[in-house]
Amino acid sequence: MSVYIVLLGPPGAGKGTQAKVVSQKMGLPHISSGDIFRENINNLTALGTLAKGYMDRGELVPDDVTIAMIQERLSRPDCKPGALLDGFPRTPTQAEALERILLQFMGEVAIVPYINVPEAVLVDRLTGRWTCRAGAHVFHEHFNPPQKTGICDYDGSELYQRDDDKSETVSHRIRVYLQQTLPLIEYYKTQGKLLEVDGTLPIDRVSSVLLEELSRTVTG
Ligand code: AMP
Repeated sequence: MSVYIVLLGPPGAGKGTQAKVVSQKMGLPHISSGDIFRENINNLTALGTLAKGYMDRGELVPDDVTIAMIQERLSRPDCKPGALLDGFPRTPTQAEALERILLQFMGEVAIVPYINVPEAVLVDRLTGRWTCRAGAHVFHEHFNPPQKTGICDYDGSELYQRDDDKSETVSHRIRVYLQQTLPLIEYYKTQGKLLEVDGTLPIDRVSSVLLEELSRTVTG
């Protein structure tokens, strides 16, 4: 049976960092909508050009565009065993679309880990975040610094600050999250699928809590 996991949480909660660990341990592809948009921007595709304006302003890319992109990605063969979704869905419309998409593959969302981090902590986390050019590995200048300033520990590529991690955009992204994505917590809670995890714990601790809970739910 396929296992589809949706990772929820505000921007800066550590979804991307945790998704990398969990997807590797569980052998599921990590599907990050933000990473796919950024790849499209780097490759100068029409989708990238369209998405860039929204992303730079800290707004959401329109639902129809985002849903079509994720539908295409989920239909590739590597998603047969399931997938770990990071950053999608972000609106109730996207969550409903995901249900329809997964039904086509005879699947459904198994569990929704929600990495909860208080709003006050998020701004510091986002504005101090540095992302690697090659593999989208993520560091933080205080909380998770790289061994060498400006260089990724994993692949040696340059670290840069995402445009949307600059302080002007960060507070808008958090507002957008509260307005558009927060309703999903109730949506998945009602379905009995929400698994709340304390995202203020150290990174390794969050990973082990997540892996423990997921293996319990998914295996049985
Ligand atoms: P992230 O890397 O997940 O923080 O996403 C970066 C940006 O990409 C967001 O601020 C949005 O502009 C856009 N984005 C990512 N995922 C979605 C989504 N599911 N729906 C709409 N926009 C998205």
